[in-house]
Amino acid sequence: MRLTPFLCLLPCLLAPLPATAEWYREARDMMGTRVSAELWSEDAALGAQALAAVFAEMDEVNRLMNPWDPDSELSGLNSEAYRGPVRVSRALFDVLKRSIEYSELSGGAFDVSFASAGQYYDYRKGVAPGKEVLAEAVSRIDYTYIQLDSEARTVRYAIEGLQVDLGGIAKGYAVDRAIEALLQLGIESAVVSAGGDSRILGNLGDRPRTIGIRHPRKKNDFIVMIPLEDTAISTSGDYERFFIDADGQRVHHILDPSTGRSSGKVQSASVLAEKAIDSDALSTTTFVLGVEKGLALINSLHGVDAIIIDDRGLLHYSSGLLLGAQEDAVP
Ligand code: ADP
Ligand code: MG
Repeated sequence: MRLTPFLCLLPCLLAPLPATAEWYREARDMMGTRVSAELWSEDAALGAQALAAVFAEMDEVNRLMNPWDPDSELSGLNSEAYRGPVRVSRALFDVLKRSIEYSELSGGAFDVSFASAGQYYDYRKGVAPGKEVLAEAVSRIDYTYIQLDSEARTVRYAIEGLQVDLGGIAKGYAVDRAIEALLQLGIESAVVSAGGDSRILGNLGDRPRTIGIRHPRKKNDFIVMIPLEDTAISTSGDYERFFIDADGQRVHHILDPSTGRSSGKVQSASVLAEKAIDSDALSTTTFVLGVEKGLALINSLHGVDAIIIDDRGLLHYSSGLLLGAQEDAVP
């Protein structure tokens, strides 16, 4: 709880505002999800300043990268970049650059141009594109059409109709920016989350924080609890935004770029990494790649781990987390 000036009105009249060492928390609905921050501060003014800094970073990333806001920098790119190179902010350039690196690393499983097809889905209304629209849209999913010029800091789309959506990476990037802002203010213990992307700074004093991985089929249940310190963790699941179509198929928001359809290999993929931009992009990537290829990729990366729940509900761990049991049945 934050100590508001109102609550300390009386003591404040008698003495200067006391230093208040406690947890400061705030949550807001933004970026199409729930963004929350919890941090430890020795003093009320710093606690309030630190929370404000977190949400200022979130607002800024949202302003640049929200695909639903026609005035965002990303929307400008989506409507203009096929005509020729567009100069963009350092932030948008860096996130696009990193996105393309993950596309190359994953053989195209992660591809922010998935939105060329993704734009035709409306999960709330239960709408999916028909065969013909989809076939045409899939031809416009290809990250190599997104051409970056590092020196001029410009972006060009090589074809018309290509759309970019950074929903698989921008929340992680925003969480990293918020954590950087907290470090600058001298905060040593905090957790910042944007939907399924979290980064943990420090610990709870005498013990690590515990982060739960949700049960993909039982709302409000957790499958695994993991103690974590100074780590980012992201989960991509098929249960966040979805509908069941007339054929009984689950249609959800993580698309296989090769088909433009929801990827059905796994139910959930969680990735641990030092930074949230990496855990975010890699959770989406691992989700699309599935158990075998996903774990092979994760095991090849230094300081990265994963927990995958496959299409039958079985748990799989990357080699860094394996302490004996390879597969546990989901309770
Ligand atoms: P969440 O948004 O629930 O935190 P993810 O991190 O897995 O979950 O991101 C899912 C989002 O990633 C989708 O809503 C969409 O914006 C984007 N996305 C979907 N498929 C892909 C893909 N193949 N490559 C890159 N981004 C994708
Ligand atoms: Mg992700």
